[in-house]
Amino acid sequence: MSIQSFSGFEPLMNDGLDGMAPKRVLKYVESRKKENHPVVGIYCGYAPVELIQSMGIVPAVLCSFSHSPIESAETVLPANLCPLIKSSYGFIMEGACPFYALSDAVIAETTCDGKKKMFEMIADIKPTFVMDLPQMPDEISASLNWKNMILNLQAFLEKNFDHTTNNEKIEHAIQWANKKNRLMQKIFDYASLTPPAISWKEIYDVGFLALPSTGEEMVPLLEKLIKKLDNRVKEGVYFGKPDSPRVLVTGCPIGGDATKIFNVIEEAGGVVLAPDSCTGMKSFMELFDENTGDPVDAIARRYLKIPCACMTPNNKRLNDLSLLIDRFKPDVVIDFVLQACHAYNVESYKVGQFVSEKHHLPFLKIETDYSSGDIGQLKTRVEALFESL
Ligand code: SF4
Ligand code: SF4
Repeated sequence: MSIQSFSGFEPLMNDGLDGMAPKRVLKYVESRKKENHPVVGIYCGYAPVELIQSMGIVPAVLCSFSHSPIESAETVLPANLCPLIKSSYGFIMEGACPFYALSDAVIAETTCDGKKKMFEMIADIKPTFVMDLPQMPDEISASLNWKNMILNLQAFLEKNFDHTTNNEKIEHAIQWANKKNRLMQKIFDYASLTPPAISWKEIYDVGFLALPSTGEEMVPLLEKLIKKLDNRVKEGVYFGKPDSPRVLVTGCPIGGDATKIFNVIEEAGGVVLAPDSCTGMKSFMELFDENTGDPVDAIARRYLKIPCACMTPNNKRLNDLSLLIDRFKPDVVIDFVLQACHAYNVESYKVGQFVSEKHHLPFLKIETDYSSGDIGQLKTRVEALFESL
């Protein structure tokens, strides 16, 4: 049985919220808040969630993927700024992000310039801690500096909330995070099948919940989902058709209105594999070193392995992309770049060359925002790409 949508078969999570990832996570954050756990808002894949969780604090990913608050944001911010930054700010201006409303503090990182400056503008609304992210991950000093920054974050959280942590609790959190990440890898493996037994929507749903949840909370659910996916494989339930073009999407984070690119790919007859982005696989790719005696150092080293375009050089992105191409066997690679994201935009040239020269695969760079105005044009470009295969 071939499927492209949620109708006609048992949805993966089957809790009435399939395809509604933010609602499910909101339910989770609200329930934890009711149990008197503080909530901190986060924006980025570099936020060390395991340290936060080891303190009994809940990390909540703040809203940043909708086009609707951008008009308000542009009354303050320049129009030629990345939509993710404008949307984040607009949500706060309009009081429209329920996760921000639940947050007792915000954790930010010095990733790109636009975000850094936007954080200055929201810093006086709620207690905000900005982590100075080393941007040359191969330097010996990088992990030491990032470890110190994580310790400073711990001090900030201890000062603002009546919650503490210690090496034992942090070690516990990272060991469970490793269990969670290993199972997430198994979930992604179902997207490597031909045809895939899991859709991008389901991967998005699972990842959205897995990011703020602890390993202990997620592992039983992930084990259940893996059994369901095994059954799908046995029953021959899959997405797309055996000959649908397989598309690996890499680049900027994709959620909410930006998922238009996934819909365009599906409507053109393609099948989206597990996305190579912070809203896809990136947050679950690496494991923490266990039992080192210094779990904060283990956290620092693990987070600096995230191959974000804010890093220089960012060779790890290409190495990881090679592994993903070997694992998922795409027919094409699409680099998704948000307008005015200079880091991913400039890096796209290198990524394109690498994909064509090393892997001999067609490559398409898509530069877009959160509006729906270019959907027709995106469709034409993706259809032309598939026709060329
Ligand atoms: S792409 Fe980079 S800056 Fe954006 S969320 Fe991921 S790690 Fe953070
Ligand atoms: S997509 Fe690019 S410009 Fe936008 S917030 Fe992320 S790194 Fe910054």
